[in-house]
Amino acid sequence: MSGIDLRGLNKSELAEYIKSIGEPAYRAKQLFRHIQKHGADDFQSMSDLPESLRSYLSENTSLVMPKIIDQQTSAAEDTVKLLLELADGERIEMVLMLYERWQAHNRATCCVSSQSGCAMNCRFCATALHEHFRNLTAGEIVAQVQIADKLAYDMGFAGITNIVYMGMGEPLANLDAVKKSLELLNDEDGMNIGMRRITISTCGIVPKIREMALWGYQIGLAVSLHAADQQLRQKLMPGAAHYSLDELLDACKYYREKSGRRVTAEYALFAGINDQPSDAAKLANLLTESDILVNIIPANPLPEAGIQPPEEAVINNFCHLLEEKGLNVQLRRKRGADIQAACGQLRRRQA
Ligand code: SF4
Repeated sequence: MSGIDLRGLNKSELAEYIKSIGEPAYRAKQLFRHIQKHGADDFQSMSDLPESLRSYLSENTSLVMPKIIDQQTSAAEDTVKLLLELADGERIEMVLMLYERWQAHNRATCCVSSQSGCAMNCRFCATALHEHFRNLTAGEIVAQVQIADKLAYDMGFAGITNIVYMGMGEPLANLDAVKKSLELLNDEDGMNIGMRRITISTCGIVPKIREMALWGYQIGLAVSLHAADQQLRQKLMPGAAHYSLDELLDACKYYREKSGRRVTAEYALFAGINDQPSDAAKLANLLTESDILVNIIPANPLPEAGIQPPEEAVINNFCHLLEEKGLNVQLRRKRGADIQAACGQLRRRQA
């Protein structure tokens, strides 16, 4: 296969393409459903299309679908991590998280990558250690969700219900492709995943948060804070700390007003770096006037960067101190530690 990737085309682009090759408009609708709803990865299986059109599409277009290079399932069978290879050999990670297996309304969340590395250079992140990377296309992002959807079905779930853009890369550094991918995933003739079930996580690129606020979508926004003072943030997240904490919180407030969604602040706890009572006091002070939810996440170990999670007692005390100050705090349970589910770790191990 070669040529334009049809998985990355929205309805009007696909209609235009179909028209340009002299086919009737209804073929675009058929094709869109095959690609976006059913996750087709070859044209020959599209039996309601004439053989001549299938052959033409096979020769002149492509349907990007990454290859699975490695698959690891946690001992609890609630987290699956995949290493995927794209058409040009770039490798990315995708994580499937399964919840409430035995209940009627089970939930399966897919954590997608938006770049095959990251330029933000966060000190605690294995993805930042990859030197060569590029932006993913909308089709490559959609394909990850479709792979996860099939996997979720195979594991007894009713497919993907939620998506988080929290894998490799900074989604707001590839915002056009990210926006297009979520519109494709939300399309009622595609996977039809509600905007409220999609969350974008960013290290805090202020102008892009403001741009997202104007989309008019009710997408969840998670902002990685990890430090409540500018100096420490500068050390931990040099790419993101280009913006001041005041600018960042203003942008979050703006997003809240425009989207109607409460913003979540992610705070990973790194032993001996940002886990002291004085750090909790600064964080409480910073967020006390806002209605931001705080997610506390014990760090995934990254020994080459001196990163370890704190002891359990330190974690609990940190949460307690925030709650005492009236913050809405959630301690995020670690998943998949036995399969290196933190972003960038699996690809790094296989490099
Ligand atoms: S934490 Fe996110 S923004 Fe920071 S380097 Fe890793 S992928 Fe990039």
